[in-house]
Amino acid sequence: MKTPLWRRWRVEADTGSGADPRRIWLSNCFLIIIALTSLAYALVNIFHFEAIPLAVVELGIFVILVLALVDMRVNRNIERSAWVTVLSCGGLSAFFYWYVKADVSAAVWTVFFAIINFFLLGTRKGLPVYLVFFAAILSMTVAYRDDWPALASGAALTNILGAMMAFGAAAYYQERFREAAHDRIEALANQDSLTGISNRRHFLQRFERVRQALCLLGGQYSLVLIDIDHFKSVNDTHGHAVGDQVIIAVTRRILSAVRAQDLVARLGGEEFCVLLRDCEGSDARRRAEGLRRVVGAEPVAVGSQSVLVTISAGVADGNPRSRGFNEMFADADRWLYVAKARGRDRVVGQSPP
Ligand code: GH3
Ligand code: MG
Ligand code: MG
Repeated sequence: MKTPLWRRWRVEADTGSGADPRRIWLSNCFLIIIALTSLAYALVNIFHFEAIPLAVVELGIFVILVLALVDMRVNRNIERSAWVTVLSCGGLSAFFYWYVKADVSAAVWTVFFAIINFFLLGTRKGLPVYLVFFAAILSMTVAYRDDWPALASGAALTNILGAMMAFGAAAYYQERFREAAHDRIEALANQDSLTGISNRRHFLQRFERVRQALCLLGGQYSLVLIDIDHFKSVNDTHGHAVGDQVIIAVTRRILSAVRAQDLVARLGGEEFCVLLRDCEGSDARRRAEGLRRVVGAEPVAVGSQSVLVTISAGVADGNPRSRGFNEMFADADRWLYVAKARGRDRVVGQSPP
């Protein structure tokens, strides 16, 4: 089915780059709104007010924003588009304030800037930018307080600076709460609640990112699938609460034995998954063997109880260009099954013929 024209921007913006879809959507909207507004103002200023310098600046902004829009669609560099949008809008607002001599009509742009700035740059980058912008407007207000009629009457001070503070604070806090909520939701969605490490969903996301990077840079990778041996009997003998502590202890031991670039996740139950970057064949099996040894090195102490745990692991390796998660996982799972069948507490993977 053909996508209607009015939805095509959004549909396209939501897919692809993996960047925050909300930011892509907002950048799209703001770029289009400011570009069209600049063009409309430029035409009005040329044909009605004959304010040519202002019209030239507005036309310049219009061209920059159209280029930024094309750049965003083609290169999908959301960060760059956000900065172009914010700086263009900030520059235009400050210039307009100076050009209309702090007339109340400048308030529209300064208020609009507060929203664009914080929504596109976020609070961390947006705050210094907004303070610089505020300082620029304030400096003009102080410098021209006797020369510009709007300042002499006090209108600009109350209307523009007041609106800038109110809208700036509103946009800043709105964005800050949204960021905090977003972070919280993301942590809940990505973390395994028992161990705090990545869950399957997050692992898959990060796996894809590593795969893309390795496809670009070259390099192999390996997937280690780990399952604790006879875990049902740990639960049966010591109880579920102790079982949970054992899972946490095994997680810590695995984390202590992997490299910084490796990804670890709990897939569910007492099964873990480790992605070894730039590692294959006997090297990968050796690393998996290291994990097995670290986990089984000494019993896990939970209160007064001591639980001896061992793990079995299946190792798959491959070229990221030809083998994705599903192929690697199926392979590792087969080897894990072999490891269990051969008596557990061991690592199995494809050996060279
Ligand atoms: P095998 O050596 O063949 O792997 O034997 P196993 O007993 O470990 O068998 P399996 O892997 O199928 O069993 C997983 C058990 O792990 C079943 C379930 O009761 C237990 N389990 C799964 N999730 C949790 C958890 O979050 N906490 C606890 N305490 N136990 C869990
Ligand atoms: Mg299992
Ligand atoms: Mg098991």
